[in-house]
Amino acid sequence: MGDLPDRFAGSLLGTALGDSIGASDWGRALARRGIIDPDAQPLGILPYTDDTHMTIGVAESLIERRGLDVDHMARRFAENYEREPFRGYGPGPPRIFRLMRAGVDWREAALRVYPGGSFGNGAAMRAAPLGLFYFDDLEALRRAVEEASRITHAHPLGIEGAVLQAAAVALAVRSGDGSPLDPGEFLGALRGLASQAVYIGKLEAIERLLKEGPDPGRVVLELGNGIEAFNSVPTAIFSFLANRDSFEGAVLYAVGLGGDSDTIGAMTGAISGAYLGAKALPRSWLAELEGADRLERLASALLEAKYGAGPILRRST
Ligand SMILES: [Mg+2]
Repeated sequence: MGDLPDRFAGSLLGTALGDSIGASDWGRALARRGIIDPDAQPLGILPYTDDTHMTIGVAESLIERRGLDVDHMARRFAENYEREPFRGYGPGPPRIFRLMRAGVDWREAALRVYPGGSFGNGAAMRAAPLGLFYFDDLEALRRAVEEASRITHAHPLGIEGAVLQAAAVALAVRSGDGSPLDPGEFLGALRGLASQAVYIGKLEAIERLLKEGPDPGRVVLELGNGIEAFNSVPTAIFSFLANRDSFEGAVLYAVGLGGDSDTIGAMTGAISGAYLGAKALPRSWLAELEGADRLERLASALLEAKYGAGPILRRST
């Protein structure tokens, strides 16, 4: 695992590339043409959206607290949102953050905004740093992701989508080191974490679709391309597995499926980047990516927070 720094960086940069390409007219047009061209030059800077902004919040909190401190993470989400509210947030999370600002505990705020909990993909889209930090312990990963998801997405289907997305990142970090990734084993490990029928069914559908071929119409019909976690996390996992030797192939395939393309692109990019490493990401895309240096610094700080010695940095709050 000598290339862990490259894989951590690849996953965070991959999230932002998938997000920004899925959110840009340039990226969506490129994806629709179905031509996989890593040398295609973006038309100017690629700004990222809420997916990456919240991923940054998860990473910052894990780094500062050397692991999951869910109250700290909730506060960081709200602070980051207040600083940059223009990131294309959906309607729910900002309402939760405003209630927190007014003194309401996040546990109550989340359930006031979404009675019964949200099953959108908002917890899954930001799960990559949790997948990286807990990559070597899937049971610890599951517990941490469940807790971190509840800040905004407390529905079991929203939580399980985030667990599967984080676990896919973790498995990608662990695999491919000298031997080719086995999709059956990869999906089997994810199956071991799934308890909801819709995810179990879709993990089976992924295995079948990998054999039948990646026809986009079939994939959208069977796996979905919507904002619900169960209609986008399996789609990202499939997009990665069907294009596992090429980052640009995986991301452009995912974005080309349409629908919630920035989030599906972000989740696909997180898994593919964790598997292939930052060295495999297209230079011409990275050169235009907003915040690329900051994401690289976060990736190395996250790795250091996981393994580094020395006192925990505590912020006085
Ligand atoms: Mg977005």
